[in-house]
Amino acid sequence: MSIEQQVTEWRQHIHKHPEFGFEEVKTAAMVADKLESFGIEVHRNIGKTGVVGILKCGNSDRSIGLRADMDALHIKEQNAFGHASVNEGVMHACGHDGHTAMLLGAAHELAQKRNFDGTVYFIFQPGEEHGVGAKAMIEDGLFTRWKIDAVYAMHNLPGIPEGHFMTRSGSIMASESSFEINVYATGGHAALPHMGTDPIVVGAQIVTALQTIVSRNLSAIHETAVLSVTEFATNGTVNVIPSSVTIKGDTRCFTDESLNKIEKAIERIVAGQCQSAGVDYSYHFNNSFLSTINTAAETEHAVNAARKVVGEERVNGQCEPFTISEDFSFMLRQVPGCYVLVGNGDDEKGGTALHNPLYDFNDNILMKGVNYWQALVETQLS
Ligand SMILES: [Zn+2]
Ligand SMILES: [Zn+2]
Repeated sequence: MSIEQQVTEWRQHIHKHPEFGFEEVKTAAMVADKLESFGIEVHRNIGKTGVVGILKCGNSDRSIGLRADMDALHIKEQNAFGHASVNEGVMHACGHDGHTAMLLGAAHELAQKRNFDGTVYFIFQPGEEHGVGAKAMIEDGLFTRWKIDAVYAMHNLPGIPEGHFMTRSGSIMASESSFEINVYATGGHAALPHMGTDPIVVGAQIVTALQTIVSRNLSAIHETAVLSVTEFATNGTVNVIPSSVTIKGDTRCFTDESLNKIEKAIERIVAGQCQSAGVDYSYHFNNSFLSTINTAAETEHAVNAARKVVGEERVNGQCEPFTISEDFSFMLRQVPGCYVLVGNGDDEKGGTALHNPLYDFNDNILMKGVNYWQALVETQLS
């Protein structure tokens, strides 16, 4: 069986048997068993269900980390093909089945050819979708147990022509943070507002003032961000002024500086509005994902490797950043590296959006990914 047939079989098997974050027990076992069968040293249960494979050739102490994500989503698959999910309500709708299969394929090829000098770490990560898997592997010693000089990851992207690569130096994916503001007042009879304090009026002023953060606090030239208020809930009713208001929202930005500014600006606005109205508040800000920031030298290596595989004209090394998020960002805070996107196709087959119940990873790009990983290792550890 050719490597392409094997990788396709693995991909479709993983697609058919998807597992949610930190539940990737069978997927991780399959990955670990395959790596062992290729003659690769394997460490299981790194960050709960993560797997690390280590392949050393020659005498060099240089190293490289290649990362794939293994988790699926809580989505009910609507595809009817043979490899559709058999696990009710769980689906590989983000292509992590393809990412895992491509890295396994590269491990197979590199273990056979052994045409490099140094150490390759194959990092199979759990729980990407909710921003917890990369952190779990890091906390479990991914970068302290092992000396990994640089780390690379790849994600497919529907709507981009099949096998075209995109990346950029600097911030490529946004951070994702959520916030919750609670305004505590006394409320009271709707006819007698002067007898109490009204959190709805304060909450409405907060929502309006939050709109000034991006427009008045961030540079129009150097910083972009999104801040959305997504929930406004009270415990009032038609003739009762509520005693509390809960405001929730979500914010995305591309640098830690912008993130810090936004976090502080929200608190300043909430504190000021509540103080002027004489009401209390609580404020929580939670970073689910940091911005994904590629380092310059590693981006150049990634672009060169992709060009070797698909040709200069199919690689965009200066793409625009995306407002979606990726927990590989946490690994890039530990060591330098680069995240690339590979086109899943722009036709009916590959163009269905990520997280859509009709999505499927495009098997035509599997070998592009396998060959990209090999080219990257061969050039970095030549
Ligand atoms: Zn996803
Ligand atoms: Zn994904």
